[in-house]
Order: sequence, then C-alpha cells, then structure tokens
Amino acid sequence: MKGYYEISFTRIFIRKYRNDYIKLIYPPFEAIISLKDLLKFLRENVGATNLEVEHNRIIVIGARNNPRDYVHYYFDAAFRTNLNNMITGRKTIYIDESLGVPLIGSHYFGLIDRGTNLIQVRPITGCNMKCIYCSVSEGPGKDRLVDYVVDYEYIAQEYEKITAFKGKYSIEAHIDGQGEPMMYPWIIDLINELKSVKGTEVISMQTNGYKLTDDVISELEAAGLSRINLSVDSLRDDKIKMINGIPVSSSLIKRIIEAIVSSNIRLLVAPLWIPGINDEDIVEIIEYVLSLRPKSEWPIFGIQKYIPYPRGRKLKVRVMTFHEFYSTLRRLEKKYGVKLVLRPEDFGIHRRKSLPKVFKLHEKAWVKTVLPGRLPREALGVCRGRVVEVTDFLGEVGSRVRVEIIRTKDNIYVAKAL
Ligand code: SF4
Repeated sequence: MKGYYEISFTRIFIRKYRNDYIKLIYPPFEAIISLKDLLKFLRENVGATNLEVEHNRIIVIGARNNPRDYVHYYFDAAFRTNLNNMITGRKTIYIDESLGVPLIGSHYFGLIDRGTNLIQVRPITGCNMKCIYCSVSEGPGKDRLVDYVVDYEYIAQEYEKITAFKGKYSIEAHIDGQGEPMMYPWIIDLINELKSVKGTEVISMQTNGYKLTDDVISELEAAGLSRINLSVDSLRDDKIKMINGIPVSSSLIKRIIEAIVSSNIRLLVAPLWIPGINDEDIVEIIEYVLSLRPKSEWPIFGIQKYIPYPRGRKLKVRVMTFHEFYSTLRRLEKKYGVKLVLRPEDFGIHRRKSLPKVFKLHEKAWVKTVLPGRLPREALGVCRGRVVEVTDFLGEVGSRVRVEIIRTKDNIYVAKAL
C-alpha cells in the first residue's frame, strides 16, 4: 500500500499506554511518548496522516517516504529527555558526552580516583533492593529524587584518559555505585570497553546478585569480568527478606554462588555484619562458601562492619567497635583457616598518582548548575572540568551560583551555596 510503513523493534518493547500514549521500554527504563506529538512530528517531516501501534511495531500511514530514521530519532530524543527507571520509579537523567557533564567530581556517577591503581566506575544509580542498612538509602521510592545513567562509550573514553595519566599497567576497574550495577542495561558493552583499554588488568564488580542467571554469568565471563563482589547477608529466606527488603530465596542465592564458582570469574562474598541480626548467618555463609572450595588469587570473603552513615538508613543496633570487629574476624580466621582481615595489597592495590585537584578546601567559586541533585536542595554544577555537588541550593537548575567548596577529597567536590 502506498505510504504504508511498518517499523519494528528488537531491543525495545513498545506498549500502548492509556489511549493516546505509548511506552518505550528498555529495561529497567521506560519513556512515555504522546502519540499525537509523534504524529505531528511525522506529519511535519514526512507527511504522515496516521499512526498505529501493534505487536511491537509502529505503523505509519500516508508518509511520502520511509519514516524509519525519523521515528528512531524521535525515540532516541525521548530516551534522552523523558526517561524513568521502572524499578526505582524515579526520573532518570541520561548522561553522554553531548550533555557537557564531566565524569569526575561526583559520588553519584562517573569515575572515582582515590590515588591507587583502582578506578571506581559508576554507570548508574538506583537499586532493586532496599536494605535496612543501606549507606546511601537506595531502593525503590522517594528516598532519592532522581537517578542517573551514563553512556558506556563516554565512560570508557574518560576512563582511558585516567589510566593514561596514572600509567597504563596493573589497573583495576571496579564497577560499583550508589545502586546496583547490574541494573545498567549496557553492562556487557561497558566491560568489553573497559577491557579494551590498555593497562586494565582486572575488572571487578560489586553486585547484590540481581540478574545473575547462568547465561548472564557466562556473558560476563566472556566479556572479561575478573571478579564479582557479591553482597550476601544471610542464607535464610526470612532473614534475607528482612535485611534486603525483597523476598529472594536462599536457594536462588546458593545457585548464583555456585554458578560463579563454576565459572572463570572469581568470587568474593561480602556480607554486612549487623550485630544482633545476622551473627550466626555470617558463620553459615563462611561454612557454605568454603564447602564449595572456590579458587581465587584474591581473598574470598570481604566481611563488612555495619557503620551508620549520615545519609544512610540507620538501625537501632549496638555498633561494634573496630577492635571487637577485627578480633572476632581473627578468631574466625583461625577457626576456618581463611583470610578475613583484609588489606588493599591482598587485591594488588597500590598507591598511584592522583588526578590533580582543581579546588582548594573553602575556596569560593562560581558554578553553573546543570542537573538536579539526588537530595532536596541539591544541584549538580560544573566548574573547571569537574562536577560539583552543590548543597543548600534554592535556585533554578541552569543558573550560576556562588559556592564555598567543603569537600575536595579524592577529587569528589561538595560545595555549599552561599
Ligand atoms: S543492595 Fe546495596 S545499594 Fe542496594 S539497597 Fe542494598 S546496600 Fe543499598
């Protein structure tokens, strides 16, 4: 039929939403588009007279030439400007090079250099779990105002610049973040890109195990992931639900652990020890993991101490002293013959020159705000090639604001609006 075009999609799902809208779904993201606006755009550009949506296809009627590129352009723009994370329920800001937002300076996304050969890589915020102890109050809901997701090619490009500065040898890229890295839809592409940067020797990733099926573990392995740091706080169903906020069965967690042990990816199990809540669980986890005899050139446990953080969820439990924590770990080390008290050297981490700081503490500066922050009265600004997290901000995003820099450690900049 003249002027009849069917455009189908393989990587995104299209669903009708209410009468006049469609949802573009690219898990965990969705963007809602008005059909009237899309038709208006296609009428102006290719003379389309009508649109239909069925079975993951857009049917464009009356167009004088193939509207495929226009539809793709429109959808791409919708993803950039109108993105929501379906799991956290929050608006999500897509950051790529064209946005002009640097990847150094924020806790929330990008790259963090703490003066060693390890570079933290943060591609996404937001988490599917809602742990009672979360140091960044993550999980579905309004504890945080927005999420960010960063283009993987942009990350790799900036990561390469840092490795060139630090020396292209023995670099570890550690994928973590304020959230769950496996929610990042381009995690395999990201690992592939990081792996291809000269000097990258190890790629490790922090995860709560979400999405780690046998197939996904094989894909991560093929892409070159070296180690998974798996958060496991208990192997009991009721306790997992209570601590992590979602009903994941212990048998599923055991299956994930076993699948990692059978792969070429090394496993590090990282439970958070909350006194009075999961004391016996820690011992149970150690015994279970040891029974699988995992092979690793690195320690296989990274037991963490519960510490209440100012911006995290706080528990009404007795907080262990460091002395008590480490002496208990030493006792368990002797009992099980396994390393539990860790030092950076156990992972091959050593000092390496840091990127130069661009601000002095308490320096005053003008910052251009560019993105909303994750907290009330917070905006993210840009100045001297760095992101600055501006607190006490009451203006409009897009304005310039005079600030006092109150944190510069590790090239993470926090400032107070004056
Ligand atoms: S899995 Fe990690 S980021 Fe997610 S809620 Fe738990 S502690 Fe927070």
